[in-house]
Amino acid sequence: MTHEERPISETPESSRRRAEIAEGVAAVRARVAAACAAAGRDESEITLIAVTKTFPASDVRLLAGLGLTEVGENRDQEARPKAAECADLPLTWHFVGRLQTNKARAVAGYSDVIHSVDRSRLVSALSEAAVRADRTPRCLVQVSLDEEEQEGGRGGAVPDDVPRLADEIAAAGGLELGGVMAVAPLGADPLPAFTRLAAIAADLRGNHPDARIVSAGMSGDLEQAIACGATHLRVGTALLGGRRAIVR
Ligand SMILES: *Cc1c(COP(=O)(O)O)cnc(C)c1O
Repeated sequence: MTHEERPISETPESSRRRAEIAEGVAAVRARVAAACAAAGRDESEITLIAVTKTFPASDVRLLAGLGLTEVGENRDQEARPKAAECADLPLTWHFVGRLQTNKARAVAGYSDVIHSVDRSRLVSALSEAAVRADRTPRCLVQVSLDEEEQEGGRGGAVPDDVPRLADEIAAAGGLELGGVMAVAPLGADPLPAFTRLAAIAADLRGNHPDARIVSAGMSGDLEQAIACGATHLRVGTALLGGRRAIVR
């Protein structure tokens, strides 16, 4: 033996980062476990998505090494190269950001779950793209829980439009209806908003029994989301630390 086997990419910096992320993952898993216990839910009902926006592909690789293979991104320009760089890993890619119709084709090419479907034109664009790419992304109807939706807000369909959009997704070629997604209104108690989302999700399951996904809960409000029946949490900061810039 002339040399020791060691991972070629391991440097002091990457092992420090691995430890940091492992700590974040452990802390979030503990919060999820406590919230599930408090809500009388089984942890197996919860899918934890690591929102890796602004963080490098190397962090996605470290997360995968720690068993976290559900990855979320919010901008195509950033997500597409990252997904390509991680193509050797068994990851599920979630697109969670506002989606322009002209990006539908690109996003349908690598996303497994698209959380931000909020208008008919986007349904048709995604459907066409998915068929062309021979893929079947799951689509969630993003619901706006803001009392008044402003221009340039965070997107989402008004609750009254959810049944129609859900029907459109379910009927569209190449798409599978997964359920609903929402972001709690900024600066307000998330519980009433998540409670409304739970009612909308229950209504949806009346017509589409397989559309069971309720994507809600981020670093600051995952406990409330779990209490209100969330199945998918989208967590960035609590896993990976602060983002340098929030790019919208
Ligand atoms: C960034 C982002 C998250 C994660 O937010 P954190 O507060 O960092 O956990 C969740 N959902 C969406 C839509 C996001 O853009």
